Amino acid sequence: MPKNLDQARYDFKRDLERLRSISGRGTELISLYVPHDRQISDVTAYLRNEYSQSSNIKSKGTRKNVMAAIESIMSRLKMYKQPPESGIVFFVGHVPTSGDQTSMEAYVIEPPEPITTYMYRCDNRFHLDPLEDMLVDKKSYGLIVIDRNEATIGLLRGKRVSIIKNMQSRVMGKHRQGGQSSVRFERLIEIAVHEYFKKVGDIASDAFLAEEELQGVIVGGPGSTKRFFAEKDYLHHELKKKLLDLVDTGYTDEAGLREMVQNSENMLSDLDMVKEKKTVQRFLREVRKPDGGLATYGEEEVVKALEMGAVDVLLVSEGIRKYRASMACSSCGERTKEIIKNEEETVRCPKCNNAMSLEDKKDVVDDYYETAEQGGTKIALISNETEEGEMLLKAFGGVAAILRYRVNGLV
Ligand SMILES: [Zn+2]
Repeated sequence: MPKNLDQARYDFKRDLERLRSISGRGTELISLYVPHDRQISDVTAYLRNEYSQSSNIKSKGTRKNVMAAIESIMSRLKMYKQPPESGIVFFVGHVPTSGDQTSMEAYVIEPPEPITTYMYRCDNRFHLDPLEDMLVDKKSYGLIVIDRNEATIGLLRGKRVSIIKNMQSRVMGKHRQGGQSSVRFERLIEIAVHEYFKKVGDIASDAFLAEEELQGVIVGGPGSTKRFFAEKDYLHHELKKKLLDLVDTGYTDEAGLREMVQNSENMLSDLDMVKEKKTVQRFLREVRKPDGGLATYGEEEVVKALEMGAVDVLLVSEGIRKYRASMACSSCGERTKEIIKNEEETVRCPKCNNAMSLEDKKDVVDDYYETAEQGGTKIALISNETEEGEMLLKAFGGVAAILRYRVNGLV
C-alpha cells in the first residue's frame, strides 16, 4: 500500500532523527548519494576504487569497518537496475552499541525530493545536509511589498524567502508636458499607477495560485499603498480571501520582503499551531462531557476503536517514541508482542524469565497510520510545541481519538 504523504514525511523525519544521533568510533561512516541519472555500474566502479584505497587505512578496526560498509553498499546496489526516480541514499557503518561493541547499521533512503548531486563521504558522522533541506515545508506564503515606485513579489517556504519578481513603476519619472493641464496630468499618473498595480497583481496571482499549499498572502510596504493595493481587485479573489496581514516595512525591495517576514514571524508560527490547538481542544471538549462524549484515548482503547472504523480523527503526538515489537525467547521458544521504547529495552520471557530477543519492530505511529487508512480515519500529528500538544502527550499517553459514534463498552 502506498504510504500517504504525511506518513512518508513522518518516517523520513524519524530516519533523519536517528541518523543525526549516530557518531562513529572512527572515520568509518559512509554516506552515498546517488542521483537518478547515475549509472549503477559507475557507482559500483567508484566504490571498488574506494574499497581498494581503504586498504591503506592505518587503524585496523577502522579499515575493517570501512571495507565492510563499502561491501554492504555494493551488494545492496546489485538490487537496482537503475536508481529510483528521486535517486537513492545509503548510510552504512558501524555504530557504537553498548560498551566496546559496535554493530553495522544500513539505511537505504529514497528521498521525498530528487537528489541532484552525487556524493560519497566517509566520516565519523553521516552527511545529512541535502536531506535536511528536504524537510522544509511544502507550505508556502505569498509575499508582496509595494509602494507607488517599486514592488517585490516573493514566496516564503519554511524559513526561506525566494524572489519571484522585482519591478519599478516608473510612474514618478513621467514629466508633465507643455500644454497639459495638471488635472489631465494627474489623471495620466493615476492610469499609469493603476496599470502598474494591475501588473503586480497579475504576476503575484499567477505565481501564488500555482502554489500547491499556499497558506496565505502577506502584503507590506512603507505607506498606505499596501492597503489600497490589497483591498482593491488587483489580486485574484481567491488570494484576497487568503490575505493574512498588512505589514509596515521600510523597503520595497528584497530587503523589504525579509523585513516583512521577520515582522510576521510570530503571526506565522501561531497560524501553524492554531490548527493543532483546535483539534486537541475539540477532543478535550468531548472527553470532558459527563458521558465521555465522542472521545477515547490510550493505546488499547484507541486501537480497538480504530479497528472498528469508529474513529473520525486520530490525534497522535509527535513526541511518542514507541515500537510494537515481536519478541522471541531463545531458550523456550515463546513469542510475544510488546510495546517497547527502544531496541535495548530488556523484555523477560513470561515463561522462563530469559531475556528475549527482538525479531521485528515497527514504529507505533506507522502502525496507526496503516490502521487508520483502512477505516478512512483522518490523522492529526500534533507537535509538543503547544500547551494542548503537551497535554495530549503527558495526560493522554500521546494518542487519542475523536469518534464518529459512541462505541458500547468502550467509552
Ligand atoms: Zn522462555
